[in-house]
Amino acid sequence: MDIKQIQSFLEECKRLLWEKFWTVESHTEDVLWSFTKLTEEVGELAEQINKRRGRQSAYKWSFSQEDLEDEIADVIFAASMLAVDFWVDLETLLKRKKWKIETKLK
Ligand SMILES: [Mg+2]
Repeated sequence: MDIKQIQSFLEECKRLLWEKFWTVESHTEDVLWSFTKLTEEVGELAEQINKRRGRQSAYKWSFSQEDLEDEIADVIFAASMLAVDFWVDLETLLKRKKWKIETKLK
């Protein structure tokens, strides 16, 4: 799947989520929902990392690589949905980020 296909997939997900769950028609509320969802997913990823490190005592032995990967995917998906909310073209965004990183590392 290339970046254009990912962008189309995300836009389709957004449309389907709107149809299924959302009744709020304010862009501000939409962005707020995406942002809080991203925050929630970052917290879940932190929990998985703590499990992997054995620092989450109640779940010390319940770490799974698949759960960690699922949470990484959730964070990427939630951040990308926020980009969709702001009509950001992911390919342009990632190319610019790549250029900035390469420039810093030279
Ligand atoms: Mg999650």
